[in-house]
Amino acid sequence: MTPSPQSKRILFAAVCLALIVVGSPAQKKTTYPEDKLRQEELAAHLRFIASDKLLGRMTGTPGCDEAARYIAAEFKKSGLSTFQSAEGYFQRVPMVRRTPPGNGTVVLRGDSLNQPDKMILRSGGPLKWSGRFEYVEYGMVDGEKGIDDYKGIDVRGKVVLARFGEQGETNLRRSLVTIAEVKRRAAQARGAVALVELYQGQRDWKSIASYLIRPGFETGPVSGMFSHFLVEDTSMSFLLKIQTKPSGEIALQTDGFRLEEIPARNVIGFFRGSDPRLRDEYVLLTAHYDHIGVGKPEGASLDSIYNGARDNGMGTVALIAAAKSFSKASPKRSVIIAAVTGEEVGLIGSKYLAAESPVPMGKIVFDLNIDGAGYDDTTIVTVVGLDRTNSEPAIKAGTERYGLTVMAEPDALKGLFNASDNLSFANEGVPAPTFSEGFHAFGPEITKYYHRAADQADENFNFSYLLKFCKAFVHSARMIGDLPVAPFWKPGDPFEQAGKKLYQKN
Ligand SMILES: [Zn+2]
Repeated sequence: MTPSPQSKRILFAAVCLALIVVGSPAQKKTTYPEDKLRQEELAAHLRFIASDKLLGRMTGTPGCDEAARYIAAEFKKSGLSTFQSAEGYFQRVPMVRRTPPGNGTVVLRGDSLNQPDKMILRSGGPLKWSGRFEYVEYGMVDGEKGIDDYKGIDVRGKVVLARFGEQGETNLRRSLVTIAEVKRRAAQARGAVALVELYQGQRDWKSIASYLIRPGFETGPVSGMFSHFLVEDTSMSFLLKIQTKPSGEIALQTDGFRLEEIPARNVIGFFRGSDPRLRDEYVLLTAHYDHIGVGKPEGASLDSIYNGARDNGMGTVALIAAAKSFSKASPKRSVIIAAVTGEEVGLIGSKYLAAESPVPMGKIVFDLNIDGAGYDDTTIVTVVGLDRTNSEPAIKAGTERYGLTVMAEPDALKGLFNASDNLSFANEGVPAPTFSEGFHAFGPEITKYYHRAADQADENFNFSYLLKFCKAFVHSARMIGDLPVAPFWKPGDPFEQAGKKLYQKN
């Protein structure tokens, strides 16, 4: 049957209408490569990264390095470009493990004070020495405040004896770290042999000693080789005696810290931005791929491998997903993708990356970091620091596209902002929130897995959430990369001034 002209017109109109109906959503909703990320593929990445074979990816171990090679191989498949300053996709991170000695003694006023019950070595190599000490109050020198505890006291070739911390200082961490370093320098600059501090801090000696006796990790030039002993004096019995007779005999003996070089590498590459006007600006995407290794056996199976599927296997897989998605369509800005090492031992990999950035830090306009302890809500993502920069609308668009709601961290956990690799870049002034798995509180659903053997890619792991999480991360990064103006810190933020300095804004 041949249709009449009239029915032809009706048919034509119907087809047009159909095209409009079918066509309009397609026009509104552009598709992106991250829409097509596949759950099975991401699950396979996670199962490898969090496999027992890698023995928990402790920094400096072969398992950690195997993870690095796996990530590099995936970056290569995606055609990520390499930096000239790197070795292929690897940025070598000079890293030293400082292991405190098992024993040692300070002999003061006839008392033998042994490590760790009565004394802890804070820094320094092997030493066997006896001679005179001079008491110098706190051992502080501050020209601005008119403080010189060394005034009239010659400490050359002698031991400096000082009380703990600084006058009026109540922040224990500051006393142990920042002030201790100032005091070591002052003693060393005046030709002293060693610094001996009498501990009268707020915390009990036992907990301080157990904290200070753990091996530490450092990057860059090894600091703290000047001998520094901390002596237990919470009852102030030494202090009172010494204040009445401020010089005398002392003997010191220690095997000193053992220093070992640890092989460590960041895995890094970049995509050039698609917009010539914006591609000189870089969005940095970071996630640590190391974890805490092998620990105490846990649970019915006495599992001792801490696989770190949530912390930070998910972040590592999300970077691989970003590389794959951006290889098909890059954002307008250039993107640096960096899987960093040594987070769990002191943000070492990211600190090094910030110090030895492959592009000038002022060209890195944003860092979107990923880290997480676990999730208690798979309908959301929690972005630590969401409310601190004006990237919120971009991140919101990126996450809502995949049906996830984005929230800032709970008020009780604001301190988390300073607890992951984003801090290394925020310290330089780079706006740097951390994209985390959805959580409302550090409750039982989190502690069940956080730094536990149970944090593994098993039947308790939500792989469909992994897929949504990765898509949301990649798309959020893309939205930020495409913004006409790079996001910045909100006014009054503690990092705002560093940001203004970095980007030379007024
Ligand atoms: Zn972590």
